[in-house]
Amino acid sequence: MEEKIIIAGPCAAENEEQVLTVAEHLKKFKNVWMRASLWKPRTKPGFDGVGKKGIPWLAKITKMGIVVGTEVLLPEHVSEVLNGIEKEGGNLKNLFFWIGARNQNHFLQRKIAQRLKKAPKQIKLLIKNQPWPDINHWLGIIEHVSKELEKERIILCHRGFAPNGQENSLNFRNLPDFELAIEVKRKTNLPMILDPSHIAGNSELVFKVIEMAINYDFDGLMVEIHPHPQSAKTDSQQQLNLKEFCQIFSLYSK
Ligand code: PEP
Ligand code: MN
Repeated sequence: MEEKIIIAGPCAAENEEQVLTVAEHLKKFKNVWMRASLWKPRTKPGFDGVGKKGIPWLAKITKMGIVVGTEVLLPEHVSEVLNGIEKEGGNLKNLFFWIGARNQNHFLQRKIAQRLKKAPKQIKLLIKNQPWPDINHWLGIIEHVSKELEKERIILCHRGFAPNGQENSLNFRNLPDFELAIEVKRKTNLPMILDPSHIAGNSELVFKVIEMAINYDFDGLMVEIHPHPQSAKTDSQQQLNLKEFCQIFSLYSK
């Protein structure tokens, strides 16, 4: 990718005020996209996201000229967002979607990509790695998706692998494998961004992860930020506040 991108925003869209506060903040920065997930796959049952109710909020953000995205679990989610944004008079070209680590049904992954193929070609699809460390599985998802969608529309994202008894002295939530991620980038010739939030699992360690990855050729970051991280409905420990985002931006865009 020519320029690095930073994708920032709350783990989950919770209410209109929360997402618009973040959007107003991000509007000031160049090459920054916003995340605000409407659907949340959870390790244990809990808040599943606001779902369709949040589509008008995302529509407002697209109209502010900010590229905004959500995780999708099903192809129907893609349709709901596309139809809803259109209905609200939003800008479809300012959308992106992602397939998260827990969505490991290749049939659904392909259906999501098929649905996107019919949408404006500016809309990108991010693919995160699966939770377990296996380069071939990740390459497999990418192959499934790229059978249906132009490769120019795909971006990859490393969010670490679930620890399974390995050495983890920093107590990361997920263990990064920067070499593996860069190998996937090289083999697929696709941009690869880094998600330090889901690796760190804790707001202080987010900075540490970014620092550890500094000499690897990542094309950007996806980082969780929230106006009031302590009261976030999901991933409250790892979300940064808006001021901390300014630090990330100046650190990363140097
Ligand atoms: C997320 O991005 O909020 C998320 C659920 O991440 P992952 O799919 O990497 O677990
Ligand atoms: Mn999260």
